[in-house]
Amino acid sequence: MSEINLKPCPHCGSFKTCIRTMSYFRFKVICKTCFAAGGARFTKEEAAKVWNRRVMA
Ligand SMILES: [Zn+2]
Repeated sequence: MSEINLKPCPHCGSFKTCIRTMSYFRFKVICKTCFAAGGARFTKEEAAKVWNRRVMA
């Protein structure tokens, strides 16, 4: 298992983010502080990528 680095929440700056399993092969990064969510993807890595890209924008 590779380590996945998640950037802090783009909305509230919280580091309390986690990757949540939505359903079969669907993952999503969510912020536990403000409940912002990234896009759902088929892998944790992709979900993290989407989340991290959002932070950069
Ligand atoms: Zn947040």
